[in-house]
Amino acid sequence: MTTHAQQPADPAAVRDTVKALDRAHVFHSWSAQGLIDPLAVAGAEGSYFWDYDGKRYLDFTSGLVFTNIGYQHPRVVAAIQEQAGKLTTFAPAFAIEARSEAARLIAERTPGDLDKIFFTNGGAEAVENAVRMARLHTGRPKILSAYRSYHGATGTAINVTGDPRRWPSDSGTAGVVRFWAPFLFRSAFHATTEAEETERALRHLEETIVFEGASTVAAIVLETVPGTAGIMLPPPGYLPGVREICDRYGIVLVLDEVMTGFGRTGRWFAAEHFDVVPDLLTFAKGVNSGYVPLGGVAISERIAATFEKRPYPGGLTYSGHPLACAAAVATIGVMEDEGVVERAARLGEAVLGPGLRALAERHPSVGEVRGVGAFWALDLVRDRATREPLVPYNASGEANAPMAAFAAACKEGGVWPFVNMNRTHVVPPCTTGDAEAKEGLAVLDAALTVADRFTV
Ligand code: PLP
Repeated sequence: MTTHAQQPADPAAVRDTVKALDRAHVFHSWSAQGLIDPLAVAGAEGSYFWDYDGKRYLDFTSGLVFTNIGYQHPRVVAAIQEQAGKLTTFAPAFAIEARSEAARLIAERTPGDLDKIFFTNGGAEAVENAVRMARLHTGRPKILSAYRSYHGATGTAINVTGDPRRWPSDSGTAGVVRFWAPFLFRSAFHATTEAEETERALRHLEETIVFEGASTVAAIVLETVPGTAGIMLPPPGYLPGVREICDRYGIVLVLDEVMTGFGRTGRWFAAEHFDVVPDLLTFAKGVNSGYVPLGGVAISERIAATFEKRPYPGGLTYSGHPLACAAAVATIGVMEDEGVVERAARLGEAVLGPGLRALAERHPSVGEVRGVGAFWALDLVRDRATREPLVPYNASGEANAPMAAFAAACKEGGVWPFVNMNRTHVVPPCTTGDAEAKEGLAVLDAALTVADRFTV
């Protein structure tokens, strides 16, 4: 055990202590512990954070795509402080003002009849519980989910996930069957138009269900717009087609809006873009911009009715924690009063969309620009003609050098980039100003010159 004596006042000394203790005692997510060098962060406000040396970064990642209203919003900070003074914590079996009000505000904004809210501490637990609800509601065992998806790192959620982070935890016995969702730029169906991609992806999904046996399939779990896997907007007709297939075969549709919910795409929920209402919707992140851990499942009337007289066999000590719920109430209030959802839509239409397309014209390393609202991806390629990714799928070490060089150039220029495989995502807080976003695009412009060097 290390005892932590008085902190020295000098920032460089504080930085050294913070780093030393981190390296000694903090075990980090998704990392080889001996190979990482986490930046010591001294503070954050709005769309920026800074280190102890005074270097400021424009956060093009919103943390892990959660600070939709930016860092340290004074109204949310005050609401958390006020709730702490009033009732810091309380067990989930009671009716608590902050919890009731958060549930009402969320239910009023989720689409359709998703009017009951089960609170969790984050996104993965929301997916776990949505899957449990679907299985109990239908009495069926299997879950269908898409390749190129991320649904969380807990037991079931990681098995529902369709990316390499699943592999080390894949039990092969989780009852999950994966299928290809539409992605025209790298079509699994050799499609050349959106209409073809939609039609073939729906046919593939229905055939998967028929050959698995529809009576064995409880739910289809989909990110409304796959996020970490590449921000691939589903083509017109796809999600309504999935809804229709679910209805026809008695399958529960779960839309995972952990990343897309609460304004990220320029709507409260991305499902609104496609006029689709799921049976269950998972959320987290933007619900309170991550100020206090919170997630949940919004539940349709039909599924809620299953548990009206029969107990729901799931729960969490901190379900609907008062501090997290008070932060959600304040965050949703801020989003309404400051027009944050509209702001995200405008940021995409007026600044990020046109700005990123202009970068694509200048840089051969940009294969495709995709996105909406404050939710964009640049798909980087070695060769525009073949669309060969700038780095191989799931590359690490030397093979990943082009993306590492790109990321280093962004940081050097004062932008903290979101980098995943051969992509960079531009996912700043929805509250980012036009001038700030343009400043970030200028840094990307310079960093893409570095990526261009690796093209053929
Ligand atoms: N679902 C989606 C779509 C996500 O993007 C994430 C996290 O990035 C999760 C679920 C898991 O959420 P958490 O990390 O809060 O468990």
